[in-house]
Amino acid sequence: MVEPAFNPRIQVLSDHVANKIAAGEVVDRPASVLKELIENAIDARATQIDVKIGGGGKRLISIADNGHGMDRDNALLAVERHATSKISDVDDIERVATLGFRGEALAAIASVSRFTLTTRPQHLDAGTELHITGGKMSDVKEVGCPVGTSFQIRNLFFNVPARRKFLRSDQTELTHLRQMFLVYALSHPEVGMTFHVEDRPVYTLAAGASLLDRLGELFGNDYTRNVREVNEDRGQIRLTGYAGMPHVQRADRSEQFIFINGRPASAPLIGYALNEAYHTFVPKGRFPSVFLFLTMDPEWVDVNVHPTKKEVRFRHPDAVRDIVIAGLRRVLNPGEAPAETHSQPEAPSAVPAAPTLRLRIEDLPALPMFNYPRITPRQEDEPPPAASPRASVEGPVDTENVPKAPWSWCRVLGQVGGLYVVMETSDGLVLMDPHAAHERLMFERFMKRLLERSLRSQGLLTPETIEMTPADAAIVRKQLPLLQSMGFGLSDFGGDSFMLDAMPDFLGAASGQSVVFAIAQTLEQGGERGGTERWAEERIAKAACRAAVKANDKLTLQEIEQLVIDLAAADMPYTCPHGRPTLIFMGFKELDRKFGRTL
Ligand code: ADP
Ligand code: MG
Repeated sequence: MVEPAFNPRIQVLSDHVANKIAAGEVVDRPASVLKELIENAIDARATQIDVKIGGGGKRLISIADNGHGMDRDNALLAVERHATSKISDVDDIERVATLGFRGEALAAIASVSRFTLTTRPQHLDAGTELHITGGKMSDVKEVGCPVGTSFQIRNLFFNVPARRKFLRSDQTELTHLRQMFLVYALSHPEVGMTFHVEDRPVYTLAAGASLLDRLGELFGNDYTRNVREVNEDRGQIRLTGYAGMPHVQRADRSEQFIFINGRPASAPLIGYALNEAYHTFVPKGRFPSVFLFLTMDPEWVDVNVHPTKKEVRFRHPDAVRDIVIAGLRRVLNPGEAPAETHSQPEAPSAVPAAPTLRLRIEDLPALPMFNYPRITPRQEDEPPPAASPRASVEGPVDTENVPKAPWSWCRVLGQVGGLYVVMETSDGLVLMDPHAAHERLMFERFMKRLLERSLRSQGLLTPETIEMTPADAAIVRKQLPLLQSMGFGLSDFGGDSFMLDAMPDFLGAASGQSVVFAIAQTLEQGGERGGTERWAEERIAKAACRAAVKANDKLTLQEIEQLVIDLAAADMPYTCPHGRPTLIFMGFKELDRKFGRTL
């Protein structure tokens, strides 16, 4: 029996086949096609980019720009593999300022779609149109067209069924396309951009915008009230942009936009730094919104680790990490470091901005109203200040320093569910979780005193002996000096027991045992070390405050009012130190909308 000849032959792949294979690296779905084409338009210095999508990008991706365009020869060259006008030597990669440089995108896209390129440079009257189908040029002709370049990508992956099979539903692909569009709309607010889906306009973004304008256009002007400007300059490296306040959080990272030297990028390191900066404000598994631009010497970043250039490496990772943490902390926690920049202090209105009261209930008993004292100096014609005289205390009114107060006046209306406090404020209805609020205040007080070294420790009436598991005891023993420096009069009693005879004074009547247990538990979960110097202290303070607040199950109206006043003055009033919200807002606008009263 004769075996069939097995005769492998090494072949040099034709360009056509090589392109198709390479295409898989550069483009894997409609959104990555869009990415490459928008980048090219930006590199061509377009000031207007118009995108149209049909059938989730599988049927059509169309993009038109008013950039510098190409003449016939360059257009023909542009669709060749490794044809680029942007670098000519390997060394240039280190210094690339353009978004593209590998010269593979157009060739790749053209090899897996029905591709049309129409382009004209300023100095020529006629434009060029190329048709390529699955990598084969089918037509080149002269056409009349505006200056600039447009691409029509139809039937993506029509000739690569394996890949086409992996595309998701139109809706899902559209979500990715839209996210990609957002990325570039944010990185280049100066470029006018439109996004049409099945001929319906989804975004129409004006040219020449600032980043804040663009945020407003994309997410609504209300949104921009919830972000703070970040600006941290370390000479060699700079961080700018906007950071969302912690209550603007999502279940995924889709509102985290990071740009490195103008290029959208990700690096595990940055995710870590964000986490570190927000960890006392945002709970695990929730993600703050950030729009951050890192600028540094191009030689400090390696963008060439990945064909789609998304993940970067840093030459000085520590510097990057530090500036991100410091820049964010400065705006999130102005108590920690003086903040220099606030995007737009929400100017507190001096007089309670009378919500357009359209109906008055005549015989409703008047409820006491009190002003948040640090914001509003009491006005003559205002309602009397609160049942609580403490409401109008406090020293000089520092109007410079109040951009973060959540309201300019408010009154407590009552309580629901045996827990939540209902309030009316200048802007609407607010619900407060008094436990979360209390935890936040206690935590801030704790950290502040720790930083100022003004912690006072208060002796317990009866010292407690605390028995622990061997594992917990080992953890507590290790941190004993730190705990002692934080005001816990804790001493090793031998075996697995400790003696507690004092606690930081403002922890109140909390049971020492529950506080120490909570601390042991959090230290155990936290691992050995964290990113910031104060990491261990913060964890301990968080756990202690939570345990202390739990013990506190009765509050008087006066105490609630004081809580409201103090909370408004807190560095970060919106969330408890574990990141749960302290306040839920329902603005008058939102109420109007819900009641169908949109004006
Ligand atoms: P790269 O962007 O890496 O250079 P591409 O394959 O994306 O590679 O593009 C190849 C070349 O085609 C670019 O270097 C550029 O000269 C030209 N080009 C692509 N898109 C445009 C455009 N929208 N306007 C003008 N020139 C373009
Ligand atoms: Mg490109």
